[in-house]
Amino acid sequence: MIPRRISRPVRVADKTIGGAAPILVQSMTNTDTEDAAATAGQVAALARAGSEIVRITVNTLEAARQVPAIRERLEAMNVKVPLVGDFHFNGHKLLAQVPECAAALDKYRINPGNVGHGSKRDEQFSTMIEKAIEYAKPVRIGVNWGSLDPELLARMMDENARLAQPREADEVMREALVRSALESAAKAEEIGLPGDRIVLSCKVSAVQDLIRVYRTLAARCDYALHLGLTEAGMGSKGIVASTAAMGVLLQEGIGDTIRVSLTPEPGGDRTREVIVAQEILQTMGLRSFTPMVSACPGCGRTTSTFFQELADKIQSYLRAQMPAWRARYPGVEEMHVAVMGCVVNGPGESKLANIGISLPGSGEKPVAPVYVDGQKTVTLKGARIAEEFQAIVEEYVRTHYAPGAARAAAATIPIRAVS
Ligand code: SF4
Repeated sequence: MIPRRISRPVRVADKTIGGAAPILVQSMTNTDTEDAAATAGQVAALARAGSEIVRITVNTLEAARQVPAIRERLEAMNVKVPLVGDFHFNGHKLLAQVPECAAALDKYRINPGNVGHGSKRDEQFSTMIEKAIEYAKPVRIGVNWGSLDPELLARMMDENARLAQPREADEVMREALVRSALESAAKAEEIGLPGDRIVLSCKVSAVQDLIRVYRTLAARCDYALHLGLTEAGMGSKGIVASTAAMGVLLQEGIGDTIRVSLTPEPGGDRTREVIVAQEILQTMGLRSFTPMVSACPGCGRTTSTFFQELADKIQSYLRAQMPAWRARYPGVEEMHVAVMGCVVNGPGESKLANIGISLPGSGEKPVAPVYVDGQKTVTLKGARIAEEFQAIVEEYVRTHYAPGAARAAAATIPIRAVS
């Protein structure tokens, strides 16, 4: 059990961020919010994939007007997920001019670097906080490296230059990020927003900077923290960078919600960022979302791509079942399945899983022993190994996770067994 930093819990619709609540997975749409059908469709897809809070851009008057329609469409689809409005530059106007939008959202994200300049900055920030107070909504004060308040940064750089021993410029920038978040939160509390309706984030795009910034932020306040590496990038680079940065912080108990900001491939699936966020939390042992499949990497002893295909197929199958299984089979998300390429490590790894299969490697008999709760139960062979193994998994779920099922009982599998 990793000790968590103590933060003030924040209610967002039916969810809680921080305190003793589980670390939540968040995501954000990339549709045009003026297109209510497309946005509601993507929010629904993200929520069904497991996103527990979804943020949408609210950037124009028409986008703000469409927010209640998006909410209605989600209700018609029976999708209940807190919706966060992402405001920049004109958020004060949109929240004031479209009260139905202010009411329909569950949380507002305010970027203190993008709320206006000079004398207008405080006034516009205050308007947004007043709207949050009026509609009893929580707020995330989300500072971002790419839109850091330029006036604050210039002032801090000047102060630094006057020091006998000036600090490095990147150190000053990190301090400016933290100060921007904390000063904005203090200002929001002065205006009247309770501290238990404030979540903070300070996102940067470099791993080491993110770790340093969040350690500082966590040490200086007890606000709930949203964690994410901004502009993480595409594909494996985005996943690795996000995991490296957030893994260190989560291990230190820092972070109450997370988002993995992946750039999708053209036409790619937006829900990937949700799955990656879940996998970060689950592989770290912080939460369980879906049964996990362990698979060996394969090597010169692997005779074909069959075991990779089987591992992929079983993982996809398990994930696809989860929307129905979550309610029907409580605890199934903790099930562990192993798919191994040969007998070198196969039986050992299989015995440690709830269900494991060890496929034949080169030079081995073309049979695949299956282990259930550490015991070898059947040996599969022939062209239907994949289907038969999936049937074993289904039977195990039914007999072990249905309410009232005897968890310890080994499955009785009505399939062909060979030696
Ligand atoms: S279990 Fe067998 S096939 Fe898989 S990596 Fe190890 S030796 Fe290679």
